[in-house]
Amino acid sequence: MTLQFHNTLTGEVEKFESIVPGKVSIYTCGPTVYDYPHIGNWVAYIYWDTLVRVLMANNYDVNRVMNITDVGHLVSDADDGEDKLEKGARREGKTAWEVAEFYTEDFLKGMKQLGLIKPQFIAKATDYIPDQIKLVQKLIDKGYTYQIDDGIYFDTSKFPTYADFAHLDLDAQKAGARVEFNQQKRNASDFALWKFTPAGEKRDMEWDFEDKKGFPGWHIECSAIAMSILGDTLDIHTGGIDHIPVHHTNEIAQSEAANGVIFSNYWLHNNHLKVNNTKISKSLGNGYTLKDLQEKGFSPLDFRLFVLQSNYRKEGNFTFDNLQSAKNRLHNWRNIAALRHQIHDTLQSETEKAKDDKTISLLATSQAIIEALNDDLGTPQALKVIDEAFARIARSSLSRIDRQSFIQLLETIDSTLGLQLIDSTPDISDKIKKEIIERNNARDKKDWKKSDEMRDKLLKSNIAIRDTNSETIWEYQQ
Ligand code: AMP
Ligand code: ZN
Repeated sequence: MTLQFHNTLTGEVEKFESIVPGKVSIYTCGPTVYDYPHIGNWVAYIYWDTLVRVLMANNYDVNRVMNITDVGHLVSDADDGEDKLEKGARREGKTAWEVAEFYTEDFLKGMKQLGLIKPQFIAKATDYIPDQIKLVQKLIDKGYTYQIDDGIYFDTSKFPTYADFAHLDLDAQKAGARVEFNQQKRNASDFALWKFTPAGEKRDMEWDFEDKKGFPGWHIECSAIAMSILGDTLDIHTGGIDHIPVHHTNEIAQSEAANGVIFSNYWLHNNHLKVNNTKISKSLGNGYTLKDLQEKGFSPLDFRLFVLQSNYRKEGNFTFDNLQSAKNRLHNWRNIAALRHQIHDTLQSETEKAKDDKTISLLATSQAIIEALNDDLGTPQALKVIDEAFARIARSSLSRIDRQSFIQLLETIDSTLGLQLIDSTPDISDKIKKEIIERNNARDKKDWKKSDEMRDKLLKSNIAIRDTNSETIWEYQQ
């Protein structure tokens, strides 16, 4: 299966071809660091991490940028209201800089806990102010902007294809422009490239431009950072579906107006996660954080598997029952992964095994996982392939499993889905191995009392014993 993705730009699932063969540039809209991310926010980063892993499995050399929005993201998408960072600062009695630093650190910690591969560049908007000013200046010079009391705006009527990306109905937008619509704006869809600090105010974060103090609009940071690091045309740009009508539409308009070339060849968008079929919202208190999940006994990797159970383009629904199912599935998978420690070099040589048609070879399974993922990140299908292979392993005698291809399968699962099956399933200690032998000897001698005592002792070390027809298997207790 060739690698293909749904491209929002064309509305179709398309074969992926990068600009430079073997290399791929990706830009991911990153977090606004004014508060703890909720599980809905993490969904986006888990899927884009999977995208990176799938590209790597297809031998691409990935160069990825993620920004950190630490300035300029206003509470309202209509370019007014307070800056989220300044609001966070007031809430916490800190400066906007301190708030940004604290939540950036927290975000990076969460990435690690979820096993997300760190992008090659994590770019803070405040570190790229000169790049943003340069881009605004370029748009001024090309005649795409106008200045009003509160800032410099992009005139969307000068970019004829403005409505195309999101299939916007601009007439309806004009008619429906809300009462608070800034009367100085020429069109309802015009957006701020640069905002001026209101007269008499002092912001924590402000810079000089056009003889005044001010700060960048939210959209400009993504265009400026992407271009500065990755060039004028990207292979892939990712974000949430909420970004399509405003943020990404604006990124395209300002980038393509400035450079005259397509900004990104592929646009991938993740759908949203709901909680109990309800939109996540602060006021409902359903914006759980990773810490909330941990306090209820769920690990970040349980959550990661829960997310991978749905396709990135489908709306997800979080419930603690669904999370519990994912946790159980991961636990069962870990016990299958632990079987690799229990396959001993058996009586047969590899060639004899290969001749034996009852030997479970897993080489084709690794390929089937990659094929499923290559089809527009088919994570639910990939998980199904794993379930089927693991069920075959669980049914078979250990001596029939080809250890080499089993380990290779686990490596494929870990590298593409980031579930850390290998790292989370260490072998048991020699002491426990001895205890298992002792228990088996007691059982062979029909010394049931001793055998039961040993079983209980092992349980205290979180190891359970299971006897099959032909062998005794140990498992981790949940
Ligand atoms: P923010 O930090 O608010 O800029 O949002 C970070 C990312 O989370 C963006 O890519 C959003 O599209 C995404 N996002 C926000 N809410 C949800 C949700 N409920 N489900 C999935 N993604 C979300
Ligand atoms: Zn962005």
